[in-house]
Amino acid sequence: MNYRMNLNSKRGWIELITGCMFAGKTEEFIKRLNRYKHAQQNVLVFKPLIDTRYSKENVFSHSGMRIESVTVKDSEEIYKIFKEQNAKQKIDIIGIDEVQFLDANVVDIISKIADEGVIAIVNGLDKDFKNNPFKNVDRLLIEAEYVDKLSAICHSCGGNASRTQRIIDGNPAKANEPIIVISANEKYEARCRHCYIKPE
Ligand SMILES: [Zn+2]
Repeated sequence: MNYRMNLNSKRGWIELITGCMFAGKTEEFIKRLNRYKHAQQNVLVFKPLIDTRYSKENVFSHSGMRIESVTVKDSEEIYKIFKEQNAKQKIDIIGIDEVQFLDANVVDIISKIADEGVIAIVNGLDKDFKNNPFKNVDRLLIEAEYVDKLSAICHSCGGNASRTQRIIDGNPAKANEPIIVISANEKYEARCRHCYIKPE
């Protein structure tokens, strides 16, 4: 990315990593944060309480990469912990995983932290299974200085996928299903524009 070469850049901005499921977003997120960690930067990573599938103290990618994280229930807790930790030792970088699962105030909190000279690296799905914009990511697409929208491979045709299809018992989920469900009897597939079936 060219911005890293601009020596006039003041520190403090937002980087958004987004796209559909199976696009490698979490790998990119962890990789970026670990690069800073290896360079002795003080990195603080948050993830929402809802996502405890793998671990409470780590963010894991499907491929097994991991980074230590703090589980939070809302954006207020993020700011509180950031302030506490920042007072002890200046925080250089914050990471926020699964930002679409946090309350809507998180975008203002992230912006405020970036204003204070911190690089905020944020990961989140751009669209839900109905292909509607996911909250927080919709605003962060506008607010972030740098956006990387990653694509997956369509599970049906092998083309470039930009959408997430929720499958229940082998069929696309209906439109009246809840947006956020984390359970074992359903699965997700990445789909391209042509293979994606709009839930009815
Ligand atoms: Zn396809």
